[in-house]
Amino acid sequence: MTPLFDGSVPELAARVARGDVSAVELATASLDAIAAKDPGLGAFLTVGRDAALEAARAIDARRARGERLGPLAGVPIAVKDALATHDAPTTAGSRILLRRVADPPDPRDGYVPPYDATVVARLRAADAVIVGKTNMDELAMGSSNENSAFFPARNPHDPSRTAGGSSGGSAVAVAAGMTPVAIGSDTGGSIRQPAALTGVVGVKPTYGRVSRYGLFAFASSLDQVGTFARDVRSAAAALQVIAGPDERDGTTEDRPATGFDPGAREGDLLEGARGGRLRVGLPRETFEEGVAPAVRARVLAAADELARAGAEIVELELPTSRFAVAAYYVLATAEASSNLARYDGVRFGLRVHDGRAPLGTLYRQTRGAGFGPEVKRRIILGTFVLSAGYYDAYYRRAQQVRALIRDDFERAFGRADVLLSPTSPTVAFKLGEKIEDPLSMYLSDVCTLPASLAGLPAMSLPGGVARPEEGGPELPVGVQLTAPAFEEARLFRVGLALERRLAAQRAEGT
Ligand code: GLN
Repeated sequence: MTPLFDGSVPELAARVARGDVSAVELATASLDAIAAKDPGLGAFLTVGRDAALEAARAIDARRARGERLGPLAGVPIAVKDALATHDAPTTAGSRILLRRVADPPDPRDGYVPPYDATVVARLRAADAVIVGKTNMDELAMGSSNENSAFFPARNPHDPSRTAGGSSGGSAVAVAAGMTPVAIGSDTGGSIRQPAALTGVVGVKPTYGRVSRYGLFAFASSLDQVGTFARDVRSAAAALQVIAGPDERDGTTEDRPATGFDPGAREGDLLEGARGGRLRVGLPRETFEEGVAPAVRARVLAAADELARAGAEIVELELPTSRFAVAAYYVLATAEASSNLARYDGVRFGLRVHDGRAPLGTLYRQTRGAGFGPEVKRRIILGTFVLSAGYYDAYYRRAQQVRALIRDDFERAFGRADVLLSPTSPTVAFKLGEKIEDPLSMYLSDVCTLPASLAGLPAMSLPGGVARPEEGGPELPVGVQLTAPAFEEARLFRVGLALERRLAAQRAEGT
């Protein structure tokens, strides 16, 4: 990691505000780290060197004039290419948003939106410095980054392995020390799973916590923007900046985003919701089928650490969660098939047309050339489950399952204050291992999907390492914490407690 990024994001911003380090120095350190490391990792689709340095110079000039700087003063940040930036190409990892398709396709040919996403505008207003746009699975569909129209992001712990997806590029930017914090989006696990596989913290907030204005829509009832960082406090600080109601997104809830930083809190981090001992629920189903024994062992060890710190461990059930993968891949594809109708070759992005052919041909040729195989598969599946005669059998059933999953969580939170589970059933798998088998790829999301369908806040944090097979490399394991809706502050408190315990345990072990 760049030594300049030592310490948490709030500390880094405070150093800039004090003038101990300049925004230009930080931006330069980040850009240099990207130039040195990214060619082997593929985390970035585009890097905005000039724009970043210009923004950093403006921040330094305002400090020199004695102006108060924002909470992310001078902090370099990487933004998933699914978020609109008015000054940089935005491709969402797809050829459909390119102005032309070169061979190989070049993300610098991407569509430049006429506006900033609300999240991007809030980052700029907080004086963060955006250094680049990160790689992702096409239109956020995938769990390995291999669906990117350009190249896959690679895991810094073993570049022959996946960094996870779809926000793999943002996870790698942080894991490899290229930026101290990054923004991703999570529809069914796309922040938490890559955070787990690369060994960083990744937070998916409550549905409605963060504006989706300017986020390229995949499945609107599930999509949420969130943060990646090396530690819980940093992820919380960045989330606080982007969270809160937005008049441009009617699904944001009118709740103030305050008190996220657990470092600023007094008292016991492990206090339960009603003031007593914290109750940590272990949902039985998330430790069962398909979870690698080495992963399960690390996650249970994390639960033991919380118990040793005074938490009460409660075993409980989320019985309907075993249908989460099936329900998600009906609902998400249905919503995607409708959302993606906007990419028609007429309004923006790619147009493939010989000038004379009828409109239907323009649509067909543009979408045929612009979408990759996974996106096409999902449009076809989503259109099918919404079609007359099949709607009741698939779409309505999946909605019913979604309601039951919500009820399961409701009951679980009667018995526990937070839930603890694996984030991913396995450590990082090899690039190429699952890409030919969509169903096995979909099963990577088995632990993250229940919280997505219930709209709950959840976070993955590093829980040590495990080997994928005997003699294999040691790879990060993610521990997932889930809290009731709008209880992000609780999530961060427990996360910080766990992070400290695991760090102390590591220190003892060495
Ligand atoms: N892996 C899941 C999918 O492919 C989740 C993606 C996401 O959260 N954007 O749909």
